[in-house]
Amino acid sequence: MEHRIAVLKGDGIGPEIIDEALKCLGVVAEEFGHSFIYDEQLIGGAAIDALEIPLPSETVDACLASDAVLMGAVGGPQWDTLPPSVRPEQGLLGIRKALGVYANIRPAKLYAPLADACPLKPERLQGGLDLIVCRELTGDVYFGEKRRDADGAGHDDMTYTIPEIERIAHRAYGLAKQRRNHVTCVDKSNILETSRVWRETVERVAREYPDIETDYLYVDNAAMQLVLRPSQFDVILTGNLFGDILSDEASCITGSIGMLPSASLGETSLGLYEPIHGSAPDIAGQNKANPIATILSAALMLRYSFGLFAEANAVENAVDAVLKEGYRTADIAKPDESVLTCSEMGSVIASHI
Ligand code: NAD
Repeated sequence: MEHRIAVLKGDGIGPEIIDEALKCLGVVAEEFGHSFIYDEQLIGGAAIDALEIPLPSETVDACLASDAVLMGAVGGPQWDTLPPSVRPEQGLLGIRKALGVYANIRPAKLYAPLADACPLKPERLQGGLDLIVCRELTGDVYFGEKRRDADGAGHDDMTYTIPEIERIAHRAYGLAKQRRNHVTCVDKSNILETSRVWRETVERVAREYPDIETDYLYVDNAAMQLVLRPSQFDVILTGNLFGDILSDEASCITGSIGMLPSASLGETSLGLYEPIHGSAPDIAGQNKANPIATILSAALMLRYSFGLFAEANAVENAVDAVLKEGYRTADIAKPDESVLTCSEMGSVIASHI
């Protein structure tokens, strides 16, 4: 089957890591008989250099005409002195908005061979660490009215509508169905009215999924439980602000920023897939970056946008196997271990698919 993918390499290590993801997708296409058609477009600093804007309209049009968008990362010191409205990050915010993505999915998984990189004590990791934070992306205090009073006091209005909560809740239950059938709703409903609406709405949605276990935690407890017993979580369903904080906490307990993918999804199957890390200007152009987060983002694309479950599993299993066999890039290697370049790691994963 044919799938159109808009490819936004971006800046810094973006082109290097995306090339390795494309290498792996090439093997998937061959092995499983698919055809991936790539449409490469500019975003971020690369677009500023070429066209003086971070998100050209051709990029937006190409993304909207595709089945999925695969992105590297944007930004770098050479654009840091530009005014905020024309900086590379505007490209990222702009494309998320143009695609209407409201659900940010961040899996956080600790790979057993990399357990040493985890900052938690080994006894806290019994049962493993393999969870997804499903964060609402378009509502909450980030998008409410903002103002300052004459005396300097600041206000940010926190709002959630019932339809906004329903659609992200359905998304979380859909994810749980494909995993271990467990949703943890995280809110602050002992204090906040928005959270009371959130919890009541999730309780109603939960009734539509009798086979999925639901539990409810206040966000302060959830933050504690993540470091005390992370194995209790499968899918964490939460709002924009709490999700921002908990997804960073969840990723840092896996210990390796170069390993973590993300997906941003909207009403349709058109999603945006990118590693959670940035453009790593300190190692850009040196063939040193870890391409695994981007390769795993491509696996999420296969699963969530194209419904290609066996193909997604094949990519994830290849990453697992390669780590078990001891292959490492510099960021995940111990001092005495030999390291692969970015392109070597991409090739070894591709050869395991
Ligand atoms: P960063 O994630 O780019 O880098 C942080 C550290 O992690 C660096 O030491 C880097 O070398 C390392 N690192 C990151 N990804 C790696 C990988 N795949 N392999 C090996 N090492 C890796 O964060 P930063 O340094 O704060 O930001 C650099 C630039 O990236 C800034 O311009 C920032 O605005 C931008 N940024 C972009 C995104 C995005 O595009 N989504 C996200 C975060 C930061």
